[in-house]
This record gives sequence, structure tokens and C-alpha cells, in this order.
Amino acid sequence: MHITLLPSVVAFLARDHSNFIDGAAHISVGEHRIAVIDPATGEAVAQLRDAQAHDVDLAVDSAVSAFQNAWARVSPYQRGIALNRLADLIEIHGEELAQLETVCSGKSINLARHLEVAQSAVFLRYFAGWATKIGGQTMTPSIPSIEGEQYTAFTLREPVGVVAAIVPWNFSLMIGVWKLGAALVTGCTVVIKPSEYTPLSLLRLAELAIEAGIPAGAFNVLNGRGQVGQQLIEHPSVRKVSFTGSVPTGIAVGKAAMAANLTRATLELGGKNAAALLADANVDDAVARLLQSAYVHQGQVCASPERLYVHRSIVEQVTQKLGAALSQMVIGSPLDEQAQFGPLANKAHYDKILGFFQRAQQNNQVIYGARAVERAGFYVEPTLVLATGKDDPLLHEETFGPVVCVLPFDDEQELVAMINDSPFGLTASIWTNDLSKALRLIPQIEAGTVWVNMHTFLDPSVPFGGTKASGIGREFGSAFIDDYTELKSVMIRY
Ligand code: NAD
Repeated sequence: MHITLLPSVVAFLARDHSNFIDGAAHISVGEHRIAVIDPATGEAVAQLRDAQAHDVDLAVDSAVSAFQNAWARVSPYQRGIALNRLADLIEIHGEELAQLETVCSGKSINLARHLEVAQSAVFLRYFAGWATKIGGQTMTPSIPSIEGEQYTAFTLREPVGVVAAIVPWNFSLMIGVWKLGAALVTGCTVVIKPSEYTPLSLLRLAELAIEAGIPAGAFNVLNGRGQVGQQLIEHPSVRKVSFTGSVPTGIAVGKAAMAANLTRATLELGGKNAAALLADANVDDAVARLLQSAYVHQGQVCASPERLYVHRSIVEQVTQKLGAALSQMVIGSPLDEQAQFGPLANKAHYDKILGFFQRAQQNNQVIYGARAVERAGFYVEPTLVLATGKDDPLLHEETFGPVVCVLPFDDEQELVAMINDSPFGLTASIWTNDLSKALRLIPQIEAGTVWVNMHTFLDPSVPFGGTKASGIGREFGSAFIDDYTELKSVMIRY
């Protein structure tokens, strides 16, 4: 069923959008407008005035003031309560937020409801739980006592200050919430810059944050293209950058942060993730799960597998079953609850994926797909191709789309070498019922996350991040605390 947009969503889309600064919508004085395009139709659904340098200053100043005053006065216990209240409001306004995400990103309404919005609340509650559990340690110094004096020492974990959070277009609300939750629970304040393609759900979230009792200035939103992100990073009052996006932008962001003020930066970047099906893998189970994990949100998920290494004894079976399943996928509008596969998120990305298709049609055996879908919007077919060999560029370049490339392997040392033959190191999965084999392979794989008999599952209690070019730092678990706090050492002679 094709759903109808809620009246509140229609009214929200019609507003004049820009930034959210110091607790209220703030319309940039700039005349330049960015059209927000619905990828299902290619038509504009909203207009946005991007932030000017003056707006960046206002947003950071407001975050500094909230950090030193209003948010600093909120006890850790009360911080946790406020974040839990915001999680409640995300659920109460879940349909509205899901629809806003869907019309801007082309993500299926089911995914927007049951993953993006639902998990935003789950992650926020997880972060809220940390509020009263962040602390330092006591130490026993080794300094000898000359005249009977004694020494003691302890550490304090202090919030770093204003965080600049920069977010991509694939899960704007959820990735925004990850950064917002980590910043606010540690006592920091935050200025978020969403992607210019998906600016709306975080603007709505900022309004809900005020309703939840989070003080004005603690959570600001600046909208615009990369230049706004760059100005934000370079602002002298920003103490930390938390970036999620592509490797080239991540490198530019890391350099800009260093050059600005030695500003600390965590970078969650791209991947070219491998799934390895060993000879004993349960083929039906693996195919059903890979269908979900590789093609969810049209493959526009950083953690999704794009490389499939399959033991030669089962490769025929796997490609035949996966290809058949892809041919049955219902392609349709993301607002249609029956559709399983929707459009790519924007025209630039659609053009990039068509480029991969052209190369695949020329060089590879296409098992299924590698074609555009003839309809308005940015639709393509879910795609499965056979690699020409281990050096096939399709096994090495991130497509960030629904393009999976398969290569058979014979022995496990060859498999490990192929998995690690990548500049990226975000995620990997091993599919086997032989636990000894899995446990022997896991330490050899260069990736921030290794799954066994599953792929593309994030949980707030499990740290997530990349090795090699896939990034620096970890989100979730307790790992995020180090990145958002400064360690102060105190020594006392008595
Ligand atoms: P992108 O790098 O083009 O943009 C990400 C954000 O950075 C956007 O908000 C953009 O406006 C901003 N930006 C662009 N140039 C900038 C600059 N010079 N300074 C500061 N900010 C700048 O990425 P994208 O196309 O939005 O997202 C897709 C990429 O994100 C893929 O490579 C994907 O793998 C990656 N990603 C990684 C994770 C992860 O957790 N590791 C999660 C989601 C997406």
C-alpha cells in the first residue's frame, strides 16, 4: 500500500528551512537555496537556505554558552532523563520522522520506521544509561616519601566542549542521534551538519529536543554543503569533530581539524566489506541473510558486504539462489509498504552507480541486474556479478550501492589474503558452522567488526568503527567516552 504523507509532514516540508540555533529555527540571511529532492520522483519537496559564515559563528557561540552554563548545570542524572525523554518523543513522532527520512533519502518507509526511527530511540536510551556511569580512577603514586608526606592521585573525565558532528545522507537521523547522544551524555554540546541531501529529520529532532527539556544551544543544526562543514571544523571554539562519510572527505576533514587547532577528530568512513562463505556454510540461510544485509537501503549502508568470497564447492549454488532471489525483489516507491527495493538516494549517486554498471556489463559476467529501471526517480536493479579475478576493480572500489561482486576461493589462507587486500577495514563476515575455523580466522581479518553467520548488525553495546582507511575511533559501547571527554589527572601531597 502506498501511504499518504501525514498533514504534519506536508506542513513541515512547506516551511522555509535553514538552521536551528540556540533553541529556535534560524533562517539564514543568504539568498542561495538548495532544493531537497525526493529520489523516488526526482522532484523538489522542500527548499533550504544554507548557512552563511555568520550562522556558523552564531551556532558555535550558542553551543559554547550552553556548554558553560545551561547544560553544565544539568546533573548527569538529569542529562540521562532528558535523553530518555527525547527517545520517548522520537517514538511518539516516529511516523512523522520516518516519512521525512523517506521523502529525502528514498529509504523504504518500513526501514525508516523499524530501523532508523526505532533504533534512534534504542541508541539514545543506551547513551542515556551512561550518564551516571562516567568517571575517573584513583591511583597510588610511586613517589617515595622523604619526610613522611603521602601522595594520592585520581583522574577526572571532563567533557571536551563543543562537538562538530558531520553526518552523511544514508541514515541522517540515526547517525545524527549517535553523535548527539554521545556528545550530550558526556556533558558536551553539539552543532550537527546533516548532509545537504537529507537536512530535514535532524531539524525536526532539534525541535523535539527542546520539548524534551534539553536547553537551547546544547543541540544546534547547521545546513549546507561541504563548505559549511569545513567552516564549522575550523571554528576556534570547536573542540572535537565527529565525522561520518566518505574516505576522501574524511581525510580532508581530519587534516582541517588538525590544522585548525589540533582539534581531535573521529572519522567513520567507507568500506569494501567482505562476506566469506566457507564450504560448510548453510547456503539457504546465508543467501536469505545476505539478501537483507547487502541490499538493504539499496546497498547504501557503510557496513554492508560488497565482496562475496564463496568456497568453490558452493559458488554455483550461492550465485544461482541469490540471483533468483534478486529477480523476485519488488522494486517500487519507498512510500509503498510492499516495495522491497527503492531508488538510490540522489542523482549524483545514481550516475556513479550507472558508471559501475557500464563497467560490469563490459567486463564481468552479470548474474542479475546492472541496469537502470525505466521510471521517474533514481531507480536501479539490485545487482550481482562475477569478479574477473582477485584484482577486479569491482572487488576493490566502494560502490556504496546494490552491487555485489562474487569470487570463488579454494583455501582459507588465500581467502584471508583476499579479504585483507583492501585499503578499507570496516566490517567482514564469516559464514560457517565450524566454530574452530571461525575463531581461527577472526584474528587474521583486518576489520573493525567481524560477524559470524550475520552481517550489517549494529548494536549500541558493541563498539563500531574502522581500521585502515575506514576510519579512526569507535562509536558505541564504552569506547565513545574517551573520544568525548578529556582526562584530567590530579595529584595531591598530604
Ligand atoms: P560525503 O563524505 O560526501 O559527505 C559526508 C558529509 O560531509 C556531508 O554532510 C557533506 O556535506 C560533508 N562534507 C563534504 N565535504 C566536506 C568538507 N570539506 N568539510 C566538512 N564536511 C564536508 O559522504 P556521503 O556521500 O554523504 O556518504 C556516503 C559515504 O559515507 C560512503 O563512503 C559511506 O561508506 C560512508 N559512511 C560511513 C559510515 C560509517 O559509520 N563508517 C556510515 C555511513 C556512511
